[in-house]
Amino acid sequence: MAVMTRPRGWALALGLGALTAGPGQPAAHGINGHVHVTGWAIEAQPAGSVLAAFFADPALKDVALIAASFPDSGYAVDHPYGEAAHWEPFIEAYIASVQARHGPDFDTPEARREVAFLMGAGCHGLQDELFDSVFLYQVREQDGRGQDEADPGTDAFLFTDGYLRFRPDLWVPADALVPVFDALGIEVTASVLRTALSRTRALVINGFAALAPGLDAEYRPQLPWTAAHYVDPTVPGSLAAEIPATAAYQRALWARLHGEFPVAALVVDGWPGARRLRTTSAGTVDGWITLVFGAGVFKSALNDQTVQLLGPDGEPVPATVHGTRWGGSPDSSSRLVTLRPTADLAPDTVYTVRLNPGLELIDGSRLEVEWTTEVRTPCADPEAPGCADPAPPAFPPPAPERPMPDAGVPDAGPPDAGPPDAGLPDADLPDVGAPDAGSGEDAGALVDRGADPDQGQAARGGADDGGCQVGAARRGAAGLWWLALVGAGLTGRRRRRGRGARGPRG
Ligand SMILES: [Zn+2]
Repeated sequence: MAVMTRPRGWALALGLGALTAGPGQPAAHGINGHVHVTGWAIEAQPAGSVLAAFFADPALKDVALIAASFPDSGYAVDHPYGEAAHWEPFIEAYIASVQARHGPDFDTPEARREVAFLMGAGCHGLQDELFDSVFLYQVREQDGRGQDEADPGTDAFLFTDGYLRFRPDLWVPADALVPVFDALGIEVTASVLRTALSRTRALVINGFAALAPGLDAEYRPQLPWTAAHYVDPTVPGSLAAEIPATAAYQRALWARLHGEFPVAALVVDGWPGARRLRTTSAGTVDGWITLVFGAGVFKSALNDQTVQLLGPDGEPVPATVHGTRWGGSPDSSSRLVTLRPTADLAPDTVYTVRLNPGLELIDGSRLEVEWTTEVRTPCADPEAPGCADPAPPAFPPPAPERPMPDAGVPDAGPPDAGPPDAGLPDADLPDVGAPDAGSGEDAGALVDRGADPDQGQAARGGADDGGCQVGAARRGAAGLWWLALVGAGLTGRRRRRGRGARGPRG
């Protein structure tokens, strides 16, 4: 196979990792899902809005789309910058960096590209939090499966179902990102960043047509409910439901960058939102209530004192409070909170979710005033007058007036959608066989190390310990190329230890 003709280090990086890491290889809510939800959210910005005007430049939209794959690129080279890039401490630090270098006007071409990159990278982390903390629980409940299946499966479904159309060019502000990571205590070189993102783009975005059919054949039978609902806008945490949340988070990022994001505007989206809760029953994901934040909150600050569900009488209703799924240390960050009622709710009733003053954000600010929103439960007879939900947004979202230049995935044809020997231009595949000039690591350091017990935890997946994983290595199914791609890190190995915990240094 073509991969065998690559330098040894390349083969190692792609193949050996899969062979040594065992089941549960990484991937994230598929990378193509990140790119597309981010793109659809950009296209959903209201006409005439500042963000619609900003992203009217297709080059800036393209930068945001490649940036939406950036956090997982760290996994492609087994470097911890990828994990860090998923979380709000990185976003906070990057906002400060962009402000210092390009603010307050951000009016140079370079400034605009970095703003776009910041927004795309931020969207990725938010989407992972939403998908993992809400939708994956639905997958477990409905299909009895987890991240190992849902991550690669949903990307494959997007391909098969004909939704993929974005293939962004490669661009990364590598030199600017190095000091941002350094401030987080992570040493990385610009060369490593470029190599990693280039590899990710080549294999997972441009090369996905080679992977998707096999992934679909593998996972669609295992995920019947997921395949039917992964783009159902009425299901919290689905890729379609992520679109308005991502669009709202983009607006929050823009406001934060411009110093115009009051803590009182912390909640930017949520489920069920204007709809009714999907059930009154406790003990099922359909009964959960989720708020989406436009900035990172300390996960440890989310508890039954700061976040409460109140009945019509104003009295607290029993519910457990949960921040983002990952991150166990006291300073872990979260961009969401989920309330899980522990007793059945009454039908056709308005409840209130209240955030109490004192809720602390990771930037040190605090919610100074009480914040509330209403949640309406479904009627006992959903057909009764007045009980219908508003129509959900259409999916797929309307195509833009000007399609992306190389729309057309899935198209397995040349030049860059096929397997590497058929289509990936060498320019996209940096030679990682030789020691990376910038990384100081040899090729062996680029392969999956596999021995980290925390990675072993990642590899096992499961309802409560999964990460950005791709399913089990398909040793007999598709040969080395398959193993190679899945093992390349495509995508995202999340280490479970203290996710989102790392804050700016000093
Ligand atoms: Zn990810």
